[in-house]
Amino acid sequence: MFVSDCLNINGKGHLTIGGADTVDIAEKYDTPVIVYDEGAIRKNCRAFVNSINEYYGGNGRVLYANKAFSCLEMCRIADDENMGLDVVSGGEIYTALKAGFPAEKLYFHGNNKSYDEIKYALESGVGRIIVDNPEELSVISALAKESGITANIYMRIKPGIDAHTHNFIRTGQIDSKFGFALETGEAMECVKLAVNAENVNLLGLHCHIGSQIFDVAPFVHAAEVMMKFISDIKNETGVIISELDLGGGFGIKYLETDEPVSFDAYMKPVSDAIKEAATKYDLPVPFILIEPGRSIAGAEAVTLYTVGAVKNIPNVRTYVSIDGGMTDNPRYILYQSDYTVLCANKADKPRDAVITVAGKCCESGDLIQENTKTQKMEKGDILAVLSTGAYNYSMASNYNRVPRPAVLMVKDGKIKTVINRETYEDLIKNDI
Ligand SMILES: *Cc1c(COP(=O)(O)O)cnc(C)c1O
Repeated sequence: MFVSDCLNINGKGHLTIGGADTVDIAEKYDTPVIVYDEGAIRKNCRAFVNSINEYYGGNGRVLYANKAFSCLEMCRIADDENMGLDVVSGGEIYTALKAGFPAEKLYFHGNNKSYDEIKYALESGVGRIIVDNPEELSVISALAKESGITANIYMRIKPGIDAHTHNFIRTGQIDSKFGFALETGEAMECVKLAVNAENVNLLGLHCHIGSQIFDVAPFVHAAEVMMKFISDIKNETGVIISELDLGGGFGIKYLETDEPVSFDAYMKPVSDAIKEAATKYDLPVPFILIEPGRSIAGAEAVTLYTVGAVKNIPNVRTYVSIDGGMTDNPRYILYQSDYTVLCANKADKPRDAVITVAGKCCESGDLIQENTKTQKMEKGDILAVLSTGAYNYSMASNYNRVPRPAVLMVKDGKIKTVINRETYEDLIKNDI
C-alpha cells in the first residue's frame, strides 16, 4: 500500500513499517527518527541479483550505491546479499572496510578523488577504480608503480543521454562534471592514455545516466552506446574491454502516482541489447555491473517527526512545523523533491487537509513539502514522511547545531538501532 509494500495501517489506525507500529516507535525512540524495513531492503537486493541471474546468466554483479545511505549495517547487508559496493570517497571506503566488506568488491567512483584517497584505495586493495579524468589516471599509475602493483580501472564515460529527470541529478549529457565525453573524442584519447599507462589495467567502462529514471529506453540506449564504444576501442587499440558498468538511477515511488519500472522490466531489454551488440560487433559478452542506490533503500524507510506549531494563514496556507527538516532531509530545499506525507497516528483517516510541512531551521526554504494533501494535524501528532531511505540521512547536516536523528531497522518484528541519535556532545567533539 502507499508507496511501498513495507507500509501498512494497523487496527489502531496507525502507520506501520515492516509490521512495527510507527507511533510506538516514535514514543519509544523519540523523534525525529528514520526507520527502515530491513526485510524490504533485502528483498530489493535479491530482486536485482536475481534479475542478473535470470536474464544475464549471472554474468554480472550488483553494486549497492552506498552514497544513498551509508552506514556499517548497510554495508553488512550488501555483503550478506552478495553484492559489491559503489563508494565515492575515502570515508565511504573506510566505512565499508570497518564493516568487514571485502575490499576487492569495492568500486571507487568520484570526479575528484584526492591523492590521499587514491593511495588509501590502492593500499586497501579496492577492486576497481573508476577513472574520471586524465589527472587521476596519472596519479593512479604513479602510485601503483611506486608500490609495485597493478591497478584495475574503469573509465567513466558520458554517453550523451538525456534521461528525463530533474536537471540537477542528470549526469549523462555532455555538460556534466562527471567523466569523459564520447562526441569530442576525449574518451578515446584517454582510453589510449590508459592503455599505455604503466601499472594500470583498463578492464572496463562505466556510465551513469541520471537518477530517479522511470523509463527503460535511456538505459537500453546507454548500453548500446557503450557497446559501440567498446567496439571502437577494440578497432583502434586492439584492447577488449571485458567489464561494463551501467550505473544506477532506477526510479522509486515518492508519490502514489509514480510508476517505477520493475527490476525485471529493466534487466531483460538491457541484457538483450548487450548480447545483440556483442554479436553485431563480434565482441565477447561483457561482465556487467549495475549500481542501484535509491531503488535499494529509498522507498523502504520513513522519517517520523513530532508536530509542533501549526500556523494557519487564512487564504495563504497552513504551516505544520516539525522537530526536524532540512537537517535530516535536504532534498526538498535542493530539488523540490516530491514526498508523501501522512499523520502516523491517524493514517486511516481521510487525507482532506492541505498543509506545508516546515522544518525548524532558520531558513524560509526549510520545507519538506508544500501544499500537500494529508490528514489534518495538530500539536503532538506524529508526522511521517515516506520514501526517505535514500539521500536523506546521507545528506543530513548539523545546520543550526541540530543533532542528526537516530536510524532504526525493523526486521521480523524486532527493532534495532543502526545509527545512534547524535548528542549535543557529538556536536562539539571537534571544536577547540
Ligand atoms: C548516485 C550513483 C548511483 C546510484 O544512483 P541511484 O539513482 O541512487 O540508483 C550509481 N552509480 C553512480 C556512479 C552514482 O553516482
